[in-house]
Amino acid sequence: MGGQLDIMFLPLMAHGHMIPALEMAKLFTSRGLKTTIISTPSFSSPVINAQAAGLDIGLVSIYFPPHDSDLPDHITSLDQVLSDDALIPKFFKALSLIQHPVEDLLRQLNPNCLISDMFLPWTADSAAKFGIPRLVFHGTSYFSLCAAEELRRHKPFRGTDHFVLPNLPHRVEMATTEVADFDLNEDADGFSKWMREMREADGRSYGVVVNSFYELEPDYADHYRNALGRRAWNIGPLLLYNNSADGGGGERGKKPSIDVAACVAWLDSKKANSVVYVCFGSMAKFSSAQLKEIANGLDAAGHDFVWVVREGGDEEWVKGMRGLIIRGWAPQVVILDHPAVGGFVTHCGWNSTLEGVCSGVPMATWPLFAEQFYNEKLVTEVLRIGVSVGNKKWRRAGHQGVGGEAVAKAVRAVMEGESAAEMRRRAAEYREMARKAVGEGGSSYNDITDLIQQLTAYGL
Ligand code: UDP
Repeated sequence: MGGQLDIMFLPLMAHGHMIPALEMAKLFTSRGLKTTIISTPSFSSPVINAQAAGLDIGLVSIYFPPHDSDLPDHITSLDQVLSDDALIPKFFKALSLIQHPVEDLLRQLNPNCLISDMFLPWTADSAAKFGIPRLVFHGTSYFSLCAAEELRRHKPFRGTDHFVLPNLPHRVEMATTEVADFDLNEDADGFSKWMREMREADGRSYGVVVNSFYELEPDYADHYRNALGRRAWNIGPLLLYNNSADGGGGERGKKPSIDVAACVAWLDSKKANSVVYVCFGSMAKFSSAQLKEIANGLDAAGHDFVWVVREGGDEEWVKGMRGLIIRGWAPQVVILDHPAVGGFVTHCGWNSTLEGVCSGVPMATWPLFAEQFYNEKLVTEVLRIGVSVGNKKWRRAGHQGVGGEAVAKAVRAVMEGESAAEMRRRAAEYREMARKAVGEGGSSYNDITDLIQQLTAYGL
């Protein structure tokens, strides 16, 4: 049978998941496939912008939170519940309640494949019900997938506060305080149990698509497939499938809170590699004491900076600062790609980390929660394109405890001297490799060709 493969995407309601889902749709559309994203009203506008710019990506909407959930109506995304222990289980319950509307869509639209966010384990059953393959999207690095899996299998943290991550191709040490509570104890709470269900659902899936490229972490791409036995395709960096026509650069996820041209003009007035960009993704919540320490650190480091402050930020001391402060949402990729930007203070969310890699900037790493501590180790110890700010404490919200001096020291380390220059040289090499990987004949390009062939053999 012939025909056009039809792929449906079901992302999680969070910017770090919605952004790469749209990029995946762009990628598969560019390879001649039909794509449809299942979204909720509050996350639909980037898809609508892409459609308005002429991209042939379908959009179907489901309501979230669903009417029969006990989440308040204003809770529409994951970042709104992370600091509230009572809301987290309600959020996951609500995620399970969208199974029916999603299955109605699968019945109606009859796609050949479902690419589901890892946070929606029941999609393994839905895909089986309709006889289509389910691919899982974790939205993280091979390194973190391998590290977390080896850690859960061997539990090297038992009875110690420091350990070496077992069985990995490199010797990487970790403090027990850096490990996520759901990896330390798989039955700790509702969230941990949900994580376990997700892993079980992975086992019932056709395979995994990874937003990474082979040359970035070859040992871990191999380890994941060969030692851990997973079927995986590396298809990234997904951000490189954006083009400026649909706002993919300036308006990723949300409309920026600053005029992009004004931001670029500010950067244009600075020397090459003289500005440090500071941003902690879409979910981090710092105490105000910690914000003050960041401010002190940036001040002491003495470099120009762009700092994205999501909460607080209206205090007098912020108003007196000399850098460019963005309150709300920054055009992150535009900023990182600007030649004036020479360093990135990042929380190591995987999207941000890859954006740093693709811009060739050294990173001062400040992981906070999720799988960010693993990504930090990849950046600082395997790729050696960053230095740690020194946070050793995994916590979901209320981040605190890093002093201004540590911030200043890490900023200087990525901005000044021979070792910063060396990191920048290495980062520039990865930047080039990333572009080659997605170009025709590159490693990600070829993996995508292979995936499309296998899906075609399965479904058409
Ligand atoms: N982002 C952005 N502007 C901001 C904050 C974040 O464009 O002010 C984007 C960022 O470029 C990245 C995503 O939001 O693509 C955040 O994803 P990541 O995995 O880095 O972190 P998370 O938000 O999931 O913790």
